[in-house]
Amino acid sequence: MYRIGFGSDIHRLEKGNSLILGGLEIPSDLRAVGHSDADVLLHAITDAILGALALGDIGSHFSDTDDRWEGANSGVFLKHAVRMMEERGFQIENIDSVISLERPKIGRFVDAIQTKVAEALSIDTGAVSIKAKTGEGLGEIGERRIIKAEACLLLRKT
Ligand code: MG
Repeated sequence: MYRIGFGSDIHRLEKGNSLILGGLEIPSDLRAVGHSDADVLLHAITDAILGALALGDIGSHFSDTDDRWEGANSGVFLKHAVRMMEERGFQIENIDSVISLERPKIGRFVDAIQTKVAEALSIDTGAVSIKAKTGEGLGEIGERRIIKAEACLLLRKT
């Protein structure tokens, strides 16, 4: 038995020193603004897992008005979704994802992000696809006002 899930997330960008993507800190002149560590990729993957199981979204499990999650490591949210998934007898077959960010160019970090995400999920790196896109200078992404991540994944009943 299979379930498909999709997750999408955006965060506003402002002046800063680094971005957290897939749990990896990347040097950047902009940072993502959020209640937690604003890791758009982990938020999108978490939402995709919850979505595959029709369990709502990250905000319904971790309110952004709850002080407990202020500055939180988004790995906590991901682990919570994984626990709910495992309790229902599912495992991740594969993940495909896209990070949309104008600059810095994150292509050289993609392999490291892939490894980080695979480790966090205890799955093979070959089951985790990370793609990096720019906004071609257009719109909110191109104008460096936001960072966006989308993730699609397949769960299989074990
Ligand atoms: Mg988010």
